[in-house]
Amino acid sequence: MTNIKDIIIIGSGPAGYTAGIYAKRSGLNPIIIQGMEPGGQLTQTTEIENFPGFKSIGGVDLMQNMENQARDLGVEIIFDTIKSVDFSKKPYTLNGEVSSYTTNSVIIATGSSAKYLGVQGEQEFKGFGVSACATCDGFFFKNQVVAVVGGGNTALADVLYLSNLAKKVYLIHRRNSLRGEEIMQKRIFSLANVEILWDSEVIEVLGAKNPSPAVNSLLIKNNKTSQTSTLNVDGLFVAIGHTPNTKFLGTSLDTDEDGYLITNNTKALKNGTHLEGIYAAGDVQDKIYRQAITSAGSGCIAALNAHEYLSRIK
Ligand SMILES: Cc1cc2nc3c(=O)[nH]c(=O)nc-3n(C[C@H](O)[C@H](O)[C@H](O)COP(=O)(O)OP(=O)(O)OC[C@H]3O[C@@H](n4cnc5c(N)ncnc54)[C@H](O)[C@@H]3O)c2cc1C
Repeated sequence: MTNIKDIIIIGSGPAGYTAGIYAKRSGLNPIIIQGMEPGGQLTQTTEIENFPGFKSIGGVDLMQNMENQARDLGVEIIFDTIKSVDFSKKPYTLNGEVSSYTTNSVIIATGSSAKYLGVQGEQEFKGFGVSACATCDGFFFKNQVVAVVGGGNTALADVLYLSNLAKKVYLIHRRNSLRGEEIMQKRIFSLANVEILWDSEVIEVLGAKNPSPAVNSLLIKNNKTSQTSTLNVDGLFVAIGHTPNTKFLGTSLDTDEDGYLITNNTKALKNGTHLEGIYAAGDVQDKIYRQAITSAGSGCIAALNAHEYLSRIK
């Protein structure tokens, strides 16, 4: 007979581990499926200075702490990646690379992946001047010179955020008009420390390798003239969008126009109504805040909701 689990949490970022900790402490027997990036996005960064309780902590250390806390409580943690799901009938089925799982409830905490430019030097200096998160890393560039790439609302919000911290902010946009909201554009145009480089693209990130890696300039190409030039900056913020990790869900749940799961108090929706026992937490359902603390918070809510649901159906 199939072994039906109480609750399976897909993803091992702050949302997944927090959900696991809360589910276990509420008396459930949660399983966390870690996916291809155990610990999630924070493992890609160096210092975290905005997670309460830690003045400063390495991204890997913070996530290892969360994993240890979950393991110590007895949460089962499995290294597998879910490839498809069947939410059309209960119990629900998750098909992984290694195994298949049957469960009464699911928390989807698969995060999102920042899009990068794919230019030379970008990967090399990721975490050493190249970032995809202004809210997370802007503080490290206080009174320095930074550039933001993009033209949508995220890029404009990043420019506004950084303009309060950095000495100078360049906005590099490949077209001659911005896509972001008019009101944000107006505010940006009025800021003395913001300069827009229109019709321009970053073609290489340059920097020093010693004593430690650090960005010092960008090679920029003007799309109209094809001329290249060097722009001296201390940091580059790539703000060209995120891809929520929902491909494995097919059309089983409602998503918005950008592919983010639509939730109502973290309960996932299908055709606008709650799909019983299915929850989503963290960046996969949040395109606005995208922070470790907000992800952890929604992981907590999802686990408590799941506990309430499972108590009701037993
Ligand atoms: C460079 C960088 C620096 C950052 N710095 C900060 C910071 O200083 N402070 C801050 O608050 N936030 C920061 N963030 C944002 C923060 O990392 C995210 O908001 C947070 O990690 C989102 O948590 P999450 O649990 O929703 O998802 P994620 O952390 O994205 O984790 C997703 C998890 O899902 C798993 N997964 C994905 N697909 C599958 C699948 N099919 N099957 C099984 N598992 C799957 C992955 O393996 C991963 O474990 C930073 C982000 C980046 C990229």
